[in-house]
Amino acid sequence: MARCAAEGCGRWRPDLLVSRGVGARVDGRWFCSRACLEQMARERLTAGTPLAPGLRGVPPMRLGTLLAAKGVCDSASLSRALEAQRESGLRLGEQLQAMGAADRQTVLTALATQFGVRCLPTFDPTTVRHAPGGLCREAVRALRIAPISDPIEHRVRVASPAPIRRRALGALRRLTGWTLEVYLVTDEDWMAILAQYGAEPRPAARPLPALVCTSSVAEAAARIAAAAARGRDATVIEANWEDHAWIRVQAPGVMEDVCLVLPEGPPHPEEASWLAATTSR
Ligand SMILES: [Zn+2]
Repeated sequence: MARCAAEGCGRWRPDLLVSRGVGARVDGRWFCSRACLEQMARERLTAGTPLAPGLRGVPPMRLGTLLAAKGVCDSASLSRALEAQRESGLRLGEQLQAMGAADRQTVLTALATQFGVRCLPTFDPTTVRHAPGGLCREAVRALRIAPISDPIEHRVRVASPAPIRRRALGALRRLTGWTLEVYLVTDEDWMAILAQYGAEPRPAARPLPALVCTSSVAEAAARIAAAAARGRDATVIEANWEDHAWIRVQAPGVMEDVCLVLPEGPPHPEEASWLAATTSR
């Protein structure tokens, strides 16, 4: 006899019926009905287990201090830039560039040092037209991370604009099992990557997985339950970052990605501290 794993259900069914396809297994636990699968999905979507940061934490050095230490700009032009950005609303790096006190590459290198990653001062966005890594464009947009190489022994180079979101990196690592080599790119290059990533049609044999983004827990749960029911014996992986919960349902012949976008909350501490670091000294 099999017993439904959904809380409050606990229905028993003879093994014979289960082996004939009544209900579905998820991560080795059996659920008797679509309703019980949906309940399981809702619970997992809202549990929101925070993930460990994706990269070793590097104490963020403030951009101004970093640029001054490198001798890129003196304290006088730094003060002028800080003064001016109050009016302009630009980030410190942008303000310094606008004033001609630092160039794009210097600011990018300093930011990369601040985040403890490498940087790509120039990048040809047409090289991501075939969607290296095989993510869908919605996933790239949601993560703000784009694979720029195909996996070689599970290693993948990825590009990201500032600020580097460690929790999103952690989510991507969890979902794909990749080791990520992170490169910081300028905001302009990032916009170009978003426009180009996956723009070329893929061979029919290797279509891109679709990612359904929704802000409705009910819709996300229904899709997960439907995929699990189709798969009959499915594995579910979830990863959370900031205001996103990403669930992947995998079974032989089934791979469904659902991304739940939660209503916007206050900025994540990681982002908030970065904003503070770049808008003041
Ligand atoms: Zn049940």
